[in-house]
Amino acid sequence: MSKRPTITIKPREGRKARAGAPWIFSNEIVMDASAKALAPGTLVHVKNDDGQDAGTGYFNSKSLIAVRLLARECGAAVDATFFAARLTRALALRGMLYAKPFYRLVHAEGDGLPGLTIDRFGDVVVVQVTTAGMEALLKPLKMALETVLSPTGIILRNDTPARTLEGLELYVRAEKGEMGRIAVEENGARYFADLGQGQKTGWYYDQRDNRAFIAGLASGKSVLDAYSYTGGFGILAAKAGASETVCLDSSAPALKLAEDSAAANKVSISAVKADVFEELERLAAQKEVFDIVVADPPPFVKSKKDLEPGAKAYRKLARLAAAVTKPGGTLLLASCSHNIPTERFAAECAAGIMRGGRKASLIRSAGAGPDHPVHPMLPESAYLKSLVYALD
Ligand code: SAH
Repeated sequence: MSKRPTITIKPREGRKARAGAPWIFSNEIVMDASAKALAPGTLVHVKNDDGQDAGTGYFNSKSLIAVRLLARECGAAVDATFFAARLTRALALRGMLYAKPFYRLVHAEGDGLPGLTIDRFGDVVVVQVTTAGMEALLKPLKMALETVLSPTGIILRNDTPARTLEGLELYVRAEKGEMGRIAVEENGARYFADLGQGQKTGWYYDQRDNRAFIAGLASGKSVLDAYSYTGGFGILAAKAGASETVCLDSSAPALKLAEDSAAANKVSISAVKADVFEELERLAAQKEVFDIVVADPPPFVKSKKDLEPGAKAYRKLARLAAAVTKPGGTLLLASCSHNIPTERFAAECAAGIMRGGRKASLIRSAGAGPDHPVHPMLPESAYLKSLVYALD
């Protein structure tokens, strides 16, 4: 039996965990001096106050989510074999969903691996760790990756600001192979991602199905892909026969990848480097309109305290984006903010469209694709909202 310390849940607390949730909050546990003294990320036995097992998890006394459970019994091995089993399950699910090895392979709690994200680009994986507990387990994780996938490249994109809350340093490192540009195949199109310098892990797999939906409407249509990044929506629409495609973003390196991707797919796009709010106002003033407008901005609500200003920004974006959408056209508005609920986001989008004097019907409400599974007890962790409106 391992010598892991024990964390005890207070009487009558931990109800959600007992019902199957993988989180135990700091106010639910006995936070005595010995618990407080544990290094962030320590593996622990978790017991209910009657002495029954609540599971094995990792602990951080400084985090609101004090315990993230890895197994339902105490003393569970958390080693390369454990990781290999979880990775094998995650891989089997993606194998069922996709013909090509380009997807999110691990989506944290949704794949039973809290604090861990892995995006797969063929033989290369990009790993992002957000908790001290998972950081401490990098060694067995890497061993398991070798056993299950034997990737030619393992890139650690551990530069997400969320890490600082866990006391972790920010770094980007090629653990194996090299960083740099890589091809991404998705929905039959060829894109490029910069694994070392790009945003997040280099590519946003979460919008895959929403890109396909828009592309399905795009033949013969003009398309504005606002906040295009490397052209996820725009390139696919162009490939589906759009008459004109504008990719609009403030990042020159992202637009360069979009242009290279257009060339690789033998389509043409216009890449415009500008601030989206300013450019939409300029286009509207010139009465320039598009059949299809996509607006997929960075998160406007980064934390709970940003809810009101962020909600206002979504409303304004909806109004401006609607103003450049032709009558009879289609508008996709997306939010990747964890901290705005879908109903609130939809309400702000509706208010913005109406304030612009437009009539609209919501024709599709979707989220991330199935390679971003959600733990059924954590429905609030489904962060992506992607609403499509038909405008009169
Ligand atoms: N739609 C993209 C993902 C968008 S990510 C896809 O399908 O892959 C958000 C993008 O917004 C980033 O590329 C970032 O460079 C861009 N961005 C952030 N602020 C911006 C601004 N004010 N104006 C224009 N682009 C902006």
